[in-house]
Amino acid sequence: MSTDTWTPEHYPVESVEGKTRFHDLDLPHALLRAIQDLGFEYCSPIQAESLPLCLQGKDMVGKAQTGTGKTAAFLINLIDTFLRQPKPGRKPGAPRALVLAPTRELVMQIARDAEGLCKYSTLRIQQIVGGIDYQKQREELREGPCDIMVATPGRLIDFLRQNEISLRDVEVLVLDEADRMLDMGFIPDVRRIVRACPHKDQRQTILYSATFSQAILDLVERWTVNPETVIIEPESVATETVEQIVYITTADEKYQLLRNLIVKNELHKVMVFANRRTVVNKLAARLKKDGIEAAELSGDVPQKKRITTLDNFKAGKVRVLVATDVAGRGIHIDGVGHVVNFTLPEEPEDYVHRIGRTGRAGSEGTSISFADEEDGHLIPALEAYIKRSLPSQRPSEDLLGE
Ligand code: AMP
Repeated sequence: MSTDTWTPEHYPVESVEGKTRFHDLDLPHALLRAIQDLGFEYCSPIQAESLPLCLQGKDMVGKAQTGTGKTAAFLINLIDTFLRQPKPGRKPGAPRALVLAPTRELVMQIARDAEGLCKYSTLRIQQIVGGIDYQKQREELREGPCDIMVATPGRLIDFLRQNEISLRDVEVLVLDEADRMLDMGFIPDVRRIVRACPHKDQRQTILYSATFSQAILDLVERWTVNPETVIIEPESVATETVEQIVYITTADEKYQLLRNLIVKNELHKVMVFANRRTVVNKLAARLKKDGIEAAELSGDVPQKKRITTLDNFKAGKVRVLVATDVAGRGIHIDGVGHVVNFTLPEEPEDYVHRIGRTGRAGSEGTSISFADEEDGHLIPALEAYIKRSLPSQRPSEDLLGE
C-alpha cells in the first residue's frame, strides 16, 4: 500500500477509557503508519503525559528510566515537528534536532528507533559516535542535510572543532540520561555543546534523567525555560505486589512443569516468557497440541495477527500467551495472574518488565521462574537488581509427573 492510500482506518485500535491512542494525537500519517508498523497500540504513560506537552513546543524535564518508552516519546515529537514544517535546502552538518546520550550503545539504539519511526518519511538521521572511523563519519555528514543527529558528547565536540558540524540551526535539543552523562564526567563537554546551540529561548529543550539530584536540577535551571515536569516511577514498584517463586529444574523437566502448573492449578491468563523466538514458537505449538489454548507473540508474528492475538488474550479466548521480551514490552493487559519465566532473562531489567505484566494496579500476581543448569547462574544478578532475595525450591513431585 502506498503512503498516499494509507489512512488511520488501516490501523484499528479500539478506543479505551483512560488510555491514549496514537490516533488521538493528530500525528502526520507517515508517522502514524510507522508507529503501527512498530506494533504500538496505546501510548505508554510517559508518552501519554509528555507528548501533548512537547507537541505544543514546551520544554520538558522527564524522570523516567529505560523501558518506559521515553525514546519514542521524544522522537515522535521531533518527527511530528519536522514533518509539519519542512525546511528544504539546508546545509549538510547542521541538524534540526540534536539528541545527546552518554553511550555509543544508547546512541545506536535511539538512531535505530528513529529510523523505524521515519520509515515513511524522508527525514535523515545521523549518528555521531566514537569508535567508528572518523573519515567515514565525515563523508556521511557531507552527503546531505541532516534532520536528527544522535550523538555522544566526545565525538560531537571533535566534529564541532573541525567545523564539520554546526549547531546553529538546532530547533530541538534532547539530553537523554542526563544523570549518567553527569556521572561519566561529560557535563563540561555537554556545556560546550549547549553553548553552540541557539539560546534556550530559541529552541525546545527536553531533558531526561532517572534521578533528579540537585546537580541535575541546576542543569535544568540553566538550560530550560519554564519546563513541564513529567515523572514516571520505575516499574519495579509493581514488583512489590508480585509473589516471586523460583523452581530449580532440569531443561528436560521444564515443559512438563509448565503444563502441570497450568492444568493442575487451573491457571488462566498466563504470560510465558522465553528468550528466543524459536523457543516461543515451539512452546506455543506444544501447548496447543496438549489442548491448551495458547498463542505466540514475537517479532515473527505479523502486526495484524499480533493485534488479534492480544485481543483474544484480553478476552480470555487465549489462555496462555507465549512471548519474547521485545514483544511483551509495553503490553498492558489487566488481570494477568501469572507470569512464567520459561527461560530467565539475561538482563535484570527484562525480569522486572516481565513480572510487571502481573500484579498491576495493586492487584496480586505471581511470577514463576524456571532456573535450570543453563541459566540458574543469572539469579544473583536479578536479586541484586530487585534488591530482594529469590529463594529457590524444587517443584513438588505432582508438578513433575506425567
Ligand atoms: P525505551 O524506554 O525508549 O527504551 O523503550 C522501551 C521499549 O518499548 C522499546 O523496545 C520500544 O520499542 C517499546 N515501546 C515504546 N513505546 C511503546 C508503546 N507505546 N507501545 C509498545 N511498545 C512501546
